[in-house]
Amino acid sequence: MSDSEKDLEELSIDEWVATVSDVYKDVDSRRTGNELWLQVLDEASKMMESIRKEEIPDTTKQCVKVFGWLGSLVAEGLREPKTVADFDDPIIGSLRATSVNDFIGGPESLGKFILLKYPEVCHTCGGDPCDCTANRMITENRRSQRYENKFKELQKISIARLTAAEGRFKSPEFTKAELERPIDEVFHMYSRIYGGIHYDIDLWKIGDHLMEEIGEVGKRIVDLGQVRRMEVQAKKGALDVNKVVIAAYKKTIPRNKVSPLGSVEEIKEMGHKQLLNFFKDYHTYGMKSELADSVSWLSGVWNKIAIITKARDLSFAERLTQNFKNYQGLVACRACGNTRCNEECLSIDLCSRTFMEQATGGA
Ligand SMILES: [Zn+2]
Ligand SMILES: [Zn+2]
Repeated sequence: MSDSEKDLEELSIDEWVATVSDVYKDVDSRRTGNELWLQVLDEASKMMESIRKEEIPDTTKQCVKVFGWLGSLVAEGLREPKTVADFDDPIIGSLRATSVNDFIGGPESLGKFILLKYPEVCHTCGGDPCDCTANRMITENRRSQRYENKFKELQKISIARLTAAEGRFKSPEFTKAELERPIDEVFHMYSRIYGGIHYDIDLWKIGDHLMEEIGEVGKRIVDLGQVRRMEVQAKKGALDVNKVVIAAYKKTIPRNKVSPLGSVEEIKEMGHKQLLNFFKDYHTYGMKSELADSVSWLSGVWNKIAIITKARDLSFAERLTQNFKNYQGLVACRACGNTRCNEECLSIDLCSRTFMEQATGGA
């Protein structure tokens, strides 16, 4: 698409998602959300293997692959459900729902998920740079008398900083510029906020944080699948949703408190659709937030590599471009060289890997 008009390295994060997912559109649309996320897991675990073996060039290659598959999942999650087959996949169309506390507006996208969680500041302390680590003694001991007031003060400061940061998005020009900035600038934002932390922890620990986030996105996918099954069962009359929600209420909400859905009496009166939408929205928002955290730690791995190798201007966009450009300079599949990858390419890949594995002594 835009590569003829715009230098690939200048593409925004959303343009990259659109560009890469365009290459794999035909094949990815036949994959389930679960399968796509398992590809992220596969590439991220290979990234961890290269970190363990201290093979930096492989680590950078794996970072790009993790991002590519993450983009595929996001593209599928944003795609409008069209066929009957889509209905069984809880991911298709799930990310299109408007976000809770949407101070940005406009359509949903990975760039937006990132800004909703990281509006140019840390989402916890509101700092730029983040000062969570410096104040850890206070936050960890917030329930003790000694730190109680100090914690309240800290909270006030972070709320004020976050409100100010989110307020800047009231300007449509500011929002547009934020969403359209090149992907390297998104990575710079993260290293500006969290770079201090990256200096102090080892590369494998940063990679481990990324793995945690990848697991958390996976859990949201599982949870959205459960909500989907609840919907199907309720529709058939095989599941009493109100009964389930009230049982959970009694198990978890203290006596004098009310659930976010209201009191037991109110829940009794609600339709199952309304109840299930609450859980669906909650976990969809959770997934968006976890996706933003995944990109945050991915940029952490990237920044740490830059620190270790002293390559201050290590460009993620440049590496992405190298990975997805064919000999004609077009964005294409690395394996088949086509601008639109197809089933044949994936089948050849599967068969080749099988032969290779078999020849080298199996899995
Ligand atoms: Zn912070
Ligand atoms: Zn291909």
